[in-house]
Amino acid sequence: MNVPIIISGGGIIGNYISVRLKRHNIESLIIEKSSEPQDFSAGIRTLTLNNHTLSLLQKEKIEVETAPIDQINALDGEGTGRIKFLSDDIGENFLSHVVMFNELKNKLAKACHERTVFNNQIESIQNLNQNDTNEVLLSNGSSIEAKIIAGCDGRKSNVAKISGLSNKSSEYNQTAITFICKADKNFDRKIAHQVFSEKGIFAVMPMPDRESIDNRCTIVWSVNNKNLEGLSINDFVSSNLSFFESKLGIKLKIDSQLLNFQLSNHHFENYINNSIVLIGDAAHSIHPLAGQGINIGFADADIFCEEVVGAYNKGIAINEAAVLKKYEIRRKGMNLLMLKSMDFFVYFFNDNNSYIRLLRNWGLKTVNKTGFIKAFFTRHASGLNKI
Ligand SMILES: Cc1cc2nc3c(=O)[nH]c(=O)nc-3n(C[C@H](O)[C@H](O)[C@H](O)COP(=O)(O)OP(=O)(O)OC[C@H]3O[C@@H](n4cnc5c(N)ncnc54)[C@H](O)[C@@H]3O)c2cc1C
Repeated sequence: MNVPIIISGGGIIGNYISVRLKRHNIESLIIEKSSEPQDFSAGIRTLTLNNHTLSLLQKEKIEVETAPIDQINALDGEGTGRIKFLSDDIGENFLSHVVMFNELKNKLAKACHERTVFNNQIESIQNLNQNDTNEVLLSNGSSIEAKIIAGCDGRKSNVAKISGLSNKSSEYNQTAITFICKADKNFDRKIAHQVFSEKGIFAVMPMPDRESIDNRCTIVWSVNNKNLEGLSINDFVSSNLSFFESKLGIKLKIDSQLLNFQLSNHHFENYINNSIVLIGDAAHSIHPLAGQGINIGFADADIFCEEVVGAYNKGIAINEAAVLKKYEIRRKGMNLLMLKSMDFFVYFFNDNNSYIRLLRNWGLKTVNKTGFIKAFFTRHASGLNKI
């Protein structure tokens, strides 16, 4: 079998790339390790998509239910500092859109179903005839020839391991806890809140809820592991939730199971090795505090497709070194900047030193009063400045 592009990983990013390339008549085959999805429930996990990501999905006619946000309030839990980011500040209707992870993943997976091989993974990649074609061996024993192998297989990427590319990673020693709540009437469904506190970074956002009867919202709460020592996640949440309720003036009733994830980051020094390309979480992962992980994955996928489609339309080989290098050059610096900015926020708001606390309060108030700095952050968060 012969196909121009093999995509390892049928997650959101891998499937999006396949859908977009198909629109431009470029065939791809997705190799997905897990079995065919059977669970079509909405689930608990949400994703915050910026305006740019949403427009990329709309172009591919992938429609999902959204909870749009036009204001984000960031507060210092131990002080009085706060910043309000408004969509009006940047002349947009909304800053971001909360969607259900499963709904988006399943819609994209459905669009790619006929070109996905489930329960399989790449075992080896062998370069044939001077870089032009690669022989890809799968775990089911079959062999496929491809020009490009796109690693979209997440933060433990198998393709990255095979490529021999090297990365830098670090642990945050934090756990992200996520769950759904029913909020009282004080919760405005267009506003997201984020509280930076010694009890963790606590984000509350509206979630898609067609009828809005239950006023449901989603919580993403990053907690230092030392605060969890000797406590179950349930005990920690039930004894600390009231702190954030009183800080925000909103009553929250837990309405789902509590999911938790260990937090770490990683970044590959190079995203390409010959015809192997790393995209999305396979190339980098960041702290979820600003909800940007999938957005920078989409920004990668956008540029990757732009370069490959551009080369294809000009009759240039799609795996030409310069084509893939351009993708790496256009994305690596931006991704690294995002990763470093997230790390700065995590460490700055994690420090209990009283001078740092004063600086935090002063910083939040100053940025809030300085229109152009605020607009700069808001434009980045909403995806207006391509991240
Ligand atoms: C608690 C939490 C909250 C988050 N919230 C947000 C948010 O609000 N907004 C946001 O932008 N981002 C958020 N993120 C980050 C976001 O979830 C990820 O960036 C995103 O899921 C990455 O997508 P991906 O397709 O690159 O990788 P993945 O979602 O990891 O998909 C990888 C796919 O590859 C498959 N696979 C794995 N190994 C192999 C293999 N060997 N062979 C073949 N297939 C394989 C997997 O089964 C999967 O289908 C959050 C993350 C966490 C932990």
